[in-house]
Amino acid sequence: METKMVVVDKETPDERVIQEAAKILQTGGLVAFPTETVYGLGAHALDPKAVEGIFAAKGRPSDNPLIVHIAHTKELAALVAFVPPLAEVLIQAFWPGPLTLVLPKSIQVPTEISAGLPTVGVRFPQNPVAQALIRAAGIPIAAPSANISGRPSPTQAFHVAEDLYGKIDMIMDGGATEVGLESTVLDVTGAIPIILRPGGITKEMLEAVVGRVDIDPAILAKYDETLVPKAPGMKYTHYAPKAKITIVEGALDRIVEEINKQVKNQPSNKKIGIMATTQTQALYVECLMLVVGDRSHPETIAANLFAILRQFDQLGIEHVYAESLPQTALGMAIMNRLQKAAGYDIIKV
Ligand code: AMP
Ligand code: MG
Repeated sequence: METKMVVVDKETPDERVIQEAAKILQTGGLVAFPTETVYGLGAHALDPKAVEGIFAAKGRPSDNPLIVHIAHTKELAALVAFVPPLAEVLIQAFWPGPLTLVLPKSIQVPTEISAGLPTVGVRFPQNPVAQALIRAAGIPIAAPSANISGRPSPTQAFHVAEDLYGKIDMIMDGGATEVGLESTVLDVTGAIPIILRPGGITKEMLEAVVGRVDIDPAILAKYDETLVPKAPGMKYTHYAPKAKITIVEGALDRIVEEINKQVKNQPSNKKIGIMATTQTQALYVECLMLVVGDRSHPETIAANLFAILRQFDQLGIEHVYAESLPQTALGMAIMNRLQKAAGYDIIKV
């Protein structure tokens, strides 16, 4: 398949390009487009054949549900059985934005989308290109991250091309995404909202609006086969580069000491990398090092994480040592992705 690459202005996308992409979606094709979280791979959410195309292009397991994207809150009604009052409050506070709400689904939503669950995840993205595209298409758009299943999510258009060139109809290049991590997924079907996937909207931000918010235990611990995950995606390896990753966790000076020790102990012919932060970059032994961001501004780390993981692969690195971060606020989402990328290989110091 030929993949058309188009560049779009992030703030005021060219109407002709939007119309062309919208047409592809309406007729059952696949278009990758920027959102404020990561690049999404869009398809007509109410067309089961189009949705199957997403699973095929990504190599995504069919029991992993897709998030449906809308460009106006009023489009929610057709997708869900009802909107609980709690959800109304969250929509007021956080839409458009990086928050996916899991709600009881309507019969309109194909089982391919919900992976057989009685619920559907819905999000109203903030990015102007995403909004213009969904509006022009006039249909809800199913869109998982636009990467091969299991690889780090794409935060730039060339990441999408690396994984999906030749497999999808179009890639819209709207520059680097802002948040850099996927949306927060929040189950609002019960009395207390439950975070199924941490993201840009933090637990603290949610609690400031609705009071108590719980975290699905499967997020906090290493995946446990005995826990039946609410979000089927939780059970798969994710975000993983080709390199092996080891996380070192503890006080920062001890982390640096341990990583230096580990690097020195590796055979000299092995290609080792260090994922450092602004605060630690001057403290490591000579080794290939990439700085992921500034510890005092975790949003910089979120924005760079997936791109840095892909960069280690480009450089042919075989083993990466990464520093852990405190698992509060955005740190929870960052560490969730990093732990999965590392397959939970963690050294505690
Ligand atoms: P991705 O499309 O790669 O961003 O992954 C979407 C993730 O959203 C899935 O892996 C699930 O964790 C979650 N999700 C989507 N829909 C639902 C749903 N109906 N119930 C629970 N989790 C969902
Ligand atoms: Mg994904």
